[in-house]
Amino acid sequence: MSEKIYLASPHMSDEGYEMKYIQEAFDTNWIAPLGKNVDEFENELAAKVGSKYAAALSSGTAAIHMALKAAGVDKGDIVFCPTLTFSATANPIIYQGATPVFIDSDSETWNMSPVALEKAFEKYKPKAVIVVHLYGLSADMDKICKICEKHNVTLIEDAAESLGTTYKGKYTGTFGKYGIFSFNGNKIITTSGGGMLVSNDEERISKVRFWATQSRDKARHYQHSELGYNYRMSNIVAGIGRGQLKVLDKRIEQKKHIFEFYKNELKNIEDIEFMPVNGWNKPNYWLSCITLNGNIRPIDVMEALEKDNIESRPIWKPMHMQPFFEKYDIIGSGVSEKIFENGVCLPSDTKMKDEDLYRINCIIKGLWN
Ligand SMILES: *Cc1c(COP(=O)(O)O)cnc(C)c1O
Repeated sequence: MSEKIYLASPHMSDEGYEMKYIQEAFDTNWIAPLGKNVDEFENELAAKVGSKYAAALSSGTAAIHMALKAAGVDKGDIVFCPTLTFSATANPIIYQGATPVFIDSDSETWNMSPVALEKAFEKYKPKAVIVVHLYGLSADMDKICKICEKHNVTLIEDAAESLGTTYKGKYTGTFGKYGIFSFNGNKIITTSGGGMLVSNDEERISKVRFWATQSRDKARHYQHSELGYNYRMSNIVAGIGRGQLKVLDKRIEQKKHIFEFYKNELKNIEDIEFMPVNGWNKPNYWLSCITLNGNIRPIDVMEALEKDNIESRPIWKPMHMQPFFEKYDIIGSGVSEKIFENGVCLPSDTKMKDEDLYRINCIIKGLWN
């Protein structure tokens, strides 16, 4: 059996930064969902992306949930959400008792289509809009921000996959009123599991910290005047995050190398189109994705790779095609469906060597010979 190649696996720093911060937590006995690593991870991440405040949470999903709650989304409200995304973007809308309306992608960005978004506003009055930056590609933010401002609606950015991506020089996650990041195991940097909510609104961020620690009122006895959640990040996990943040830029370089390697190797296969990297966009290249426009189908590529112990996967299946979400409205014209039907996420593990990339490309090219 050939050596396994992963789609994207955790990649700790060569320097051992993560262990140093974990050791510090042990030495000071801050083995809790609070402590120096939590505070510093919040400060360091906020400083990195250029946001004023951050709240470290147990997952990206929890961060989206708290963003919706902070935006005042409640029972019966409508929230616009891209259909082409991971279900974690949409689930918290349901947690809040709100109703998602799904918005199609455009082929120029693979992300929320500003045209479909504008159309959705003709039909609905949403309480919030969630935009996603898929696979590290930024959405068309000038247009999307303008539309949200015009309709006076809170914008939440799901930047779970795009930490380090910039749009016209500004980090994704900092365009909306709220931005969220994920440190799940296969993201560009990981803490094993975790998330972060960023915002320039100090009051809302401290409110989120309050909700996320069981909404404990300031009283000697345990008193609660609001519903609480246990959503804070552990101080151990935050230590991993602090170490990982130091290698984020290095990981982006490695991811970019992987993307360009594929582009160069596969450039002569006309059936293959690469994910759209626009001039405004400096992606983190979290996953290298392609679409196939000929007789060779995504399943052929995935099966050929699997036979050689190499992991790849389809593009996210749109939410409006999911059994759980299909009862909700979709505004658009089938672009996301086409990307899903034709798309493949190629192995994008930063631990890969060039020889691994040759091995993968050899198998892919073999399908066209
Ligand atoms: C990973 C991911 C999330 C959820 O993050 P978790 O930390 O796993 O809860 C949300 N949205 C998108 C687009 C993601 O890829």
